[in-house]
Formats: sequence, structure tokens, C-alpha cells
Amino acid sequence: MDTLQEVMVADETLDPSDWADMQALSHRIVDDAIGYLRDVRNRPVWREMPAEVRAFFSEPLPHEPAPIADVYGDVARNVMAYPMGNIHPRFWSWYMGSSNFTGALGDFLAAIQGSNLGGGNHAAGLMDSQVVDWLKEMVGFPASASGTLVSGGSMANIIGLTVARNAKAGVDVRERGVGAIPKPLRFYASDQVHSCHRKAMEALGLGNRALRRVSTDANLRIDVDALKTAIAEDRAAGFKPACVIGTAGTVNTGAIDDLQALAALAAEEDLWFHVDGCIGALIAIAPENASLVAGVEQAHSIALDPHKWLHAPFEAGCTLVRDAEAHRGTFATTLECLQLAPRGLPSGQWLHDYGLQTSRGFRALKVWMALKEHGVEKFGRLIDQNIAQARYLAGLIEAEPALELTAPTTINIVCFRHRGGGLSGERLKAFNTEIMMRLQEEGIAAVSDTTVHGQHWLRAAVTNHRTRRDDLDLLVRETLRIGKEIEAAASPA
Ligand SMILES: *Cc1c(COP(=O)(O)O)cnc(C)c1O
Repeated sequence: MDTLQEVMVADETLDPSDWADMQALSHRIVDDAIGYLRDVRNRPVWREMPAEVRAFFSEPLPHEPAPIADVYGDVARNVMAYPMGNIHPRFWSWYMGSSNFTGALGDFLAAIQGSNLGGGNHAAGLMDSQVVDWLKEMVGFPASASGTLVSGGSMANIIGLTVARNAKAGVDVRERGVGAIPKPLRFYASDQVHSCHRKAMEALGLGNRALRRVSTDANLRIDVDALKTAIAEDRAAGFKPACVIGTAGTVNTGAIDDLQALAALAAEEDLWFHVDGCIGALIAIAPENASLVAGVEQAHSIALDPHKWLHAPFEAGCTLVRDAEAHRGTFATTLECLQLAPRGLPSGQWLHDYGLQTSRGFRALKVWMALKEHGVEKFGRLIDQNIAQARYLAGLIEAEPALELTAPTTINIVCFRHRGGGLSGERLKAFNTEIMMRLQEEGIAAVSDTTVHGQHWLRAAVTNHRTRRDDLDLLVRETLRIGKEIEAAASPA
């Protein structure tokens, strides 16, 4: 018989030993979070971390427990105080959304429920499918299409391109591998295509050279005639043209390929038509600009990014595939331990049959809650608002003799630079890079830079629901001020 002492040994758990304490701290964290977001405009966009903060991230693996209030104190001091800055109204670097409080609550609740969205018969799984259905509707895809929520646009493109490869390979690639493909496959995209497609081609075993970059016109849209020529050349040389990737909003300048022309060409040439709509597919919900992405609904597959223009907290991407069977046929497997049953928890769908992940997080909730709260129309108006703001910024730059603009501002990306009083080449680049760094270091605004038509430009991507026009006025004003300061320091006194 067990001794009393053995019976009394408590099993350990990660649950709080004092729920009331945890409740009090949690309320404080929520209060802090509300203040953090409410007052974001009053803080610098970004600031460099002091050495002691950097050192904090070299602390060793903890062996002993610490009070959770102290743990939170460390996070508040060292982590929350030094963000990337993309939730700030004057953050326009690279390309990302600016999150939202409701979405954050969704992430919190999703983690509290802790469900695994690999599959099974539970509410989170149904909501995952519902959000995919809503995204299909937003871009004009038929209800019969399938889709899956993934980590982001890069993964969404890989999923779509994998289906494309398998559909066009001419052999059972899943069983026999890429080595058995009779004629080497060719994919096509413009020379502005996002770098994730290169990674996809490499990961798919097709190799970077299987992705032909087709030249672009003056507006940085794919040159459809050049594409036709490339396809004909490849056929003559024994390749199998398999897929054309249209970009709805390039990351460099926001150029939108002629999606209708690409859809028609893909049909003529028997190619898979994939749209990288990480930036622009959702313009389909924006009443004033939806026509810019006409044709997106004709794609065989679309990659889109709710963590960009739906402002979902990271991470949330989505692949949509018109032919649900081709999608499932690319990824479905039957694991012995994951069989469907007619009733109970293992009935319903295995969502892991539509992508590479087995365990999947509950990404849908943050997207669902924000859509329910605001309605899709408001998200459409916010997209229109950003595009109007970018055009406003382009107008300010055009009106300012010390600044210049390049590439048409089709949507929400503005490429510009300070003329530096007539500098050129590397000196002009250094001048503008200095402006970019000072804007960031002084916490004023975050813009990034890029190369357009072989030249260096600053770049502002206005994907931010907190941006106001006076923020853009400030950007122009401060760019001019910093430009003057650099010029004054450079010229002999
Ligand atoms: C952002 C982006 C991607 C990659 O998406 P992530 O969500 O960052 O992985 C792909 N293509 C385009 C055009 C993008 O703008």
C-alpha cells in the first residue's frame, strides 16, 4: 500500500498556482496593451536599442522559476519598447500591414483555446474553412474552389506553385519525383517577381533557371509579347511551358500585370495561371480600384496575404486553388493515426491535406473577428484610402522641385528621391540613404529603398490604416529638412 506521503505528492502543471494573481496581472497587461496601441502615434517609429537591452537577449537559459510579474516587466522594458514599428502611422518600409487590436484579441483567444487546426471536428476547423470561403468570395473565386490558410505569402505561393507543378508535370511527381518529368518544366514571371518564387522553384526541385524572368514595359508590367516569344522559344527547345505567374502588385513599385491578358494567354497555351496577389489580390474588395485587378478571378491559383492589406497580426497568408481536387491531390496523405471516423472528433476534414503543415495554428480567428467587427466594405475603403494617400504623396513630391518621382504610382507604393542638388550615381544614392537612415534614427518615419530601372530610389509603401495625409506632409517636410542639413554639412563654411 502507498504511504500517505506518496499519495500527497502533487503532480506538476503549468497552470498558475494562484489564479487571482494571474488575473490581476493579465488585467494590467491588457491595460498596458490598450495604452500601447492608443498612443502609438506619440512614440518614435523606431529607435536603436541601447547596449544593455541588446545584452538582455544573451541571458542564459533559465533554470529557476521567476515571478510572472517580473517576466512581464522584462518583456515590457526590453521587448515592447523596441518594436519594428510597423504599427506606427508613419511606417512605410518594405510591405506589411499594421495589425489591429481585435486581431490581437483573436490571437489571444486562439492560444487560450489552443486548438490544432490540422483537422478534426471542432469549431476552429469550421471557422478556418469559413475564412477561406470568405477570401474566395472577396477575390471572385467560385465556391467550389479550395484553399488553405498558411503562414504568409511566401508559403502561399509555394503551395500554389506546387499544385501547378504536379498538375503540369505529365507524370506522378509525388510518387516518382522531379527526375521523372519527361520534359523540363518552365515557369514564367516578370523580372519584377518577388524573390519567394525563386525559393519556391528551388524547393520544388525545378531550379531557379526553370523560372524565366520576362522583361517589363515602362510601367514595370510584364511584356506579354515578350512572354509569348519566350514560350515559343522554350517549346522549340524541348521545354514544357507549365505556368505563368502574374503579379498583382509588385513589391518594388506596385505594378499590376495585365491579368486578363495573362489569363487568355494561359488558356491558349495550356499553362497554369498563378497570381501572386500578396499585395493586390484584395484590391478586388476596394470599390474605387477593383478594376485594376480584373482577371484575378480567372487564375488557377492565387496567393494572398491577410497580414498585409487586411492588417491581421502576423502570420496569415492564404492559397486559393480553383480545382479543389488538384489541390487535395497534391498534399493529401493518409497517416495511420489520422484516419477519419463517421462521428466524433476525427470526423470532418483533415485540413493538413491542403498544405505542408501537419499541426496548424488557429489563424482564422484574428481574421474572422476583425471582418465581423468592421465588415468587408470597410476593409475595401481602407485599401482605397491607402491608394489615394499614395497618390497624394506622389502629388506632393511632383510639386517639390528638390524631389523627384519615378515609376507610376499605380497603387500604394511611391518611389522617389531627393535630387541632392544635382548629385548623381553613387553620391546620389549615399545622399538618399543618409536621409532614409536619419528619418528612421530620429524616429520620424520609416521608408525603405529599392532599385527601379537600374537606379536607387527611396520607397514608401502606404499599407497602413493609421496613416493620415498630414503624416505624408510631414514626410516630405522632413525629407527636405534633412536634405538641407546634409547639404549644409557637406558644403564648405
Ligand atoms: C510580401 C510579398 C510576398 C511574400 O509574402 P510574405 O507574407 O512576406 O511571406 C510575395 N509576393 C509579393 C508580391 C509580396 O508583396
